Amino acid sequence: MSKLLIVGTVAFDAIETPFGKTDKILGGAATYIGLSASQFNVKSAIVSVVGEDFPQEHMDLLTNHGIDIQGLEIVKGGKTFFWSGKYHNDLNTRDTLDTQLNVLADFNPVVPEDFKDSEIVMLGNLHPLVQLSVLEQVTNPKLVVLDTMNFWMDNALEDLKKVISKVDVITINDEEARQLTEEHSLVRAARKIEKMGPKYVVIKKGEHGALLFHKDQIFFAPALPLEEVFDPTGAGDTFAGGFTGYLAQSEDISFENMKNAVIYGSSLASFCVEKFGTERMESLKHPELESRLQEFQSLTQFDIELTPTKTL
Ligand code: AMP
Repeated sequence: MSKLLIVGTVAFDAIETPFGKTDKILGGAATYIGLSASQFNVKSAIVSVVGEDFPQEHMDLLTNHGIDIQGLEIVKGGKTFFWSGKYHNDLNTRDTLDTQLNVLADFNPVVPEDFKDSEIVMLGNLHPLVQLSVLEQVTNPKLVVLDTMNFWMDNALEDLKKVISKVDVITINDEEARQLTEEHSLVRAARKIEKMGPKYVVIKKGEHGALLFHKDQIFFAPALPLEEVFDPTGAGDTFAGGFTGYLAQSEDISFENMKNAVIYGSSLASFCVEKFGTERMESLKHPELESRLQEFQSLTQFDIELTPTKTL
């Protein structure tokens, strides 16, 4: 069974959407990635840090989903990373109200011995220097995928560029791709990012789907049109967990197979947004994922018979 190493925040989030508000619930990039990847037949582990305020029930939730947490450091007397955000009415854009790094500020990640040879490394959102340190500890991964966000572009751009130059795939949202490259066109932005290092670029466009770029090839997957979107928090990380979980399980990192990985990532993200926080991902069962994949298939499949040009 392939191993998937996940690094990212394990956090407390306070979220406000047009439908309601939560106070300090479980969140964090690595949490969402791990829960999403738990839908696949892979051995996954999280490398992250929390404070003493992080409850045992959240740890149990991760282990009950088959996620190895040897690499989740608990800092005595420390406080867990906290993020708070408020979504606009379109649910595609949000304002970060507060980011408290807390224990993340002095975090030195330690990759567990038996995950140093992981086939796939998912560098989820956190400080680029932590992502770099994890990369230095692994031996010869087949694929390294990076996710990041505007916060690190604003606060640690040079370090972020160093990580970008070392990864195979980057997943990034449309606004962040524009910020990173100063290009409005996403096609141009993807080309520029490829020049920075990654051979594959995934640009996530929220409810407008996701694009996969590789050299002169482009693949597009829509997002499933949902009746209700409750809370988009974690959708990007859930996408990344589905993308890497599927690639690890199928042991095939070709461009053709990455298209399927994008579809898996999009399907999983469509569940994540149905409830607040991690709630929907906690209860998700594999048959539900399979029937949603079928919905994806019928949403995008068509069979046009090309007719000769009409002559007048
Ligand atoms: P997403 O909606 O996919 O961008 O992910 C939201 C998750 O990212 C939340 O659960 C937050 O805890 C986490 N998060 C927010 N800001 C940061 C940051 N600067 N670095 C790492 N993780 C973050």
